[in-house]
Amino acid sequence: AKAKSRGSISVYEPEMDAQIRDRRVLHQDLSLAIRNGELSLHYQPQAVARHTVAESEVIGFEALARWLHPVRGFVPPGDFIPIAEESGLIVEMGEWILREACREAASWPKPLQIAVNLSPAQFMHGDVVGLVHSILIETGLAPGRLELEITEGVLIEDFDRGLALLRRLKALGVRVSMDDFGSGYSSLSYLQAFPFDKIKIDRAFVMHLGRNPQSASIVRAVVGLGHGLGMSIVAEGVETQEQLGFLADEDCDAVQGYFIGKPAPIGQYSALVGRTNAP
Ligand code: C2E
Ligand code: CA
Ligand code: CA
Ligand code: CA
Repeated sequence: AKAKSRGSISVYEPEMDAQIRDRRVLHQDLSLAIRNGELSLHYQPQAVARHTVAESEVIGFEALARWLHPVRGFVPPGDFIPIAEESGLIVEMGEWILREACREAASWPKPLQIAVNLSPAQFMHGDVVGLVHSILIETGLAPGRLELEITEGVLIEDFDRGLALLRRLKALGVRVSMDDFGSGYSSLSYLQAFPFDKIKIDRAFVMHLGRNPQSASIVRAVVGLGHGLGMSIVAEGVETQEQLGFLADEDCDAVQGYFIGKPAPIGQYSALVGRTNAP
């Protein structure tokens, strides 16, 4: 299908930026992706922060969207989520993701947490409360097992609406976490204003632990601040033993990252969710 054209400007004009053209093609493909069963979810473990991986018990998983394009192969979520956001496709896609993640988690023998990302458009413009409510009923997932990740910055767009939405979500019994903390325009008043259960420290700070004393100070401060506000702290992007040790020392609550486990199809984590007799 040809995208909207105005006057003599058409999608196929040579001066058209290749990237824009590419985005349009991706958008057309994306609108078929759900229907064609090209979307799937990978799951990445979240574990309590202890000094060794063996001691760091897995307490839940984050669901991460994957798109296997028939020609291009895997398209990273960083490429297709923004397109879905701009085009409004995120509503349908986000609904599929939430339903699939909740359905999957409800089938696990162990009652672990499941964290699902909500995109800004999905959060601010869709009926997110109604959707979460109906999916919980439909899948039978206990609300206390669902955690919704919202990036900082989203709520500030419309403070009153953001606050009302968070409160209504929490009234359903689900938990909300602030994703990518420190990567955007977060402020301390922001943390105080919104009733988050959890802060996810952005990978950018965790990455430099051990090499950069400023990162250590920031992580230490965020842990103290979050705990002072009654929130729990998860560090993202933990890749080394050194980082894990530091986070455990600093009383960070949980960790997520390649050092604990990479995002993978749930089959790879059968034992962790209680599907086999493995330890
Ligand atoms: P995010 O929510 O911050 O997700 C964490 C990202 O960090 C994931 O990238 C994950 O694969 C990656 N990661 C985890 N551990 C490590 C590590 O130790 N080292 C490094 N270098 N990376 C690590 P991914 O899956 O490519 O997703 C990128 C972003 O796309 C996500 O960032 C999230 O903002 C968005 N996204 C992914 N899935 C969904 C979804 O289902 N819905 C929405 N709305 N957004 C999604
Ligand atoms: Ca996330
Ligand atoms: Ca994150
Ligand atoms: Ca991120």
